[in-house]
Amino acid sequence: MNNEYLKLVHEALNKKIELAQNNAKQLKKLYEDVAEDLLKKASKSKGFNKAWLNDYSKVVQNRLRELENNIYELNEDALKTSSQIAAAVQATFFEYLEDKFELDIPKELYKSIYSIPEDIVLKLISGNLYKDGKGLASRIWSSTNKMGQDINFILAKGIAEQKSYLEMIKDLEKYVDPAAKKPWNWKTVYPGVNKQVDYNAQRLMRTGINHSFYLSSMESNKRNPYVESVHWELSGQHYERQVKRFGRDECDDYVEQNKYNLGQGNFPKDEVPIPHVQCLCTQYGVITKSMEEIGKELGDWIAGGNNPMLDEWYTTNGKNNAFSKLAVSKEENSGIIKAILKEGGIINE
Ligand SMILES: [Zn+2]
Repeated sequence: MNNEYLKLVHEALNKKIELAQNNAKQLKKLYEDVAEDLLKKASKSKGFNKAWLNDYSKVVQNRLRELENNIYELNEDALKTSSQIAAAVQATFFEYLEDKFELDIPKELYKSIYSIPEDIVLKLISGNLYKDGKGLASRIWSSTNKMGQDINFILAKGIAEQKSYLEMIKDLEKYVDPAAKKPWNWKTVYPGVNKQVDYNAQRLMRTGINHSFYLSSMESNKRNPYVESVHWELSGQHYERQVKRFGRDECDDYVEQNKYNLGQGNFPKDEVPIPHVQCLCTQYGVITKSMEEIGKELGDWIAGGNNPMLDEWYTTNGKNNAFSKLAVSKEENSGIIKAILKEGGIINE
């Protein structure tokens, strides 16, 4: 295995985890802000009755539309960044070679890698990639809509049961505050009401970040001819969270197989399985040639030497870039690339 390259892979994986953690915090903050606004408004009530609830529902609806927009923007950014981090692995690989061996790699080839992120993000947002065809906007709407219904249910029930002012406010707070502890009998008192207000939105974003990263990695692996196969690696928590509690799953089969004779756990680039829901495994392109070997090969080819593999690469990726009006610019990506190189200990700057 090419160790410098493997460092890039691991650095990108760390960056993705960091991204997911930061975004989870930001998302929680969005819900905390909503909780604050809704509670403030409810606490001004002079009496809880149906007429009040009617007015209040409108306030809730408006605030939830705003939340929806904020969640959408947060997701859009997160998907894009996650995809950029993944594609940056292959782009960084070539930039490293270019610098180290003073090569002049055709810019069209970079373009082919840089154009991946926007492309993937557009597909994820539109929902084209999913069986149910549901896009990002309608998934977010489903969770905020449920939130609106839950709030209405809690308040209507309180009014019907003539709960006190304080009880009403407290129950509302327990629901809307993402950090609030729920009483043990929450499910009995409020059947069907979500226990964690931001649960679905958090799950949606986490899944999106993972999908975006996976799709972008798989696509960029295909665009790097030095990636020979894709390796499937179990998450460090796979045994504790899966095997010990529920037994083996398909991921165990993936890492143990060698049915393509590419090495254990390796798949051809276009036959990599799609990770199941909530899968924590990682998948990355395998490069066994050393940087020195690859640098020499590229150098010879750029100087006019014969290399059918690289010719083919240029034909399929280099010239085919009329579509890359979507391309993320090299400048836009270079921040991420620099960070990966630096934190991976590959450059010191
Ligand atoms: Zn898995």
